Amino acid sequence: MNVQVFRTKSEEETVEAGQRLARLLGPREVVLLIGDLGAGKTTFAKGVVHGLGAAAPEDVVSPTFTLIHEYGSEPKIYHIDLYRIQNEHEASALGLEELLDSEGIILVEWGERFPYLWPPERVEVHFQWLSEQEREIRVLAPQPTGDPRRRDTMSP
Ligand code: ADP
Ligand code: MG
Repeated sequence: MNVQVFRTKSEEETVEAGQRLARLLGPREVVLLIGDLGAGKTTFAKGVVHGLGAAAPEDVVSPTFTLIHEYGSEPKIYHIDLYRIQNEHEASALGLEELLDSEGIILVEWGERFPYLWPPERVEVHFQWLSEQEREIRVLAPQPTGDPRRRDTMSP
């Protein structure tokens, strides 16, 4: 397990942290964004989508009500928010299997509530609220199976 810790002091720094992670992501990757409301999950997702060249940060908005947003192509990026999903029955109605079978990169908020849905080889990003403007962001990535340099490029 490779762990990277960021302490950000603004929304912009959290967007930048997301852009860093984007450099390491390839097709079929699943990223769980884990933390309380307001911790910075959506803000970080803006950086990931922007870093992958799929949209400007301001065009990435919370999928809390729409549940799934799609950005870019080859690979597509799916930004999912399961906050409003109450149970396994509702979760299974979303067609997530199809997304997981695709080449797409999947970013999920509140996905840890349905852990059986996700592959074990996922990236987890844990967000902690430190103060009004500060967040601690821990990126936990599985050991790379291919190129050993691949996950070593998060430093500036
Ligand atoms: P979540 O998706 O986890 O509920 P959001 O990313 O939507 O959280 O919201 C984070 C809120 O916290 C935003 O209003 C943002 O402006 C504010 N904020 C303040 N400091 C930071 C920071 N360092 N990183 C991320 N967001 C921050
Ligand atoms: Mg959110």
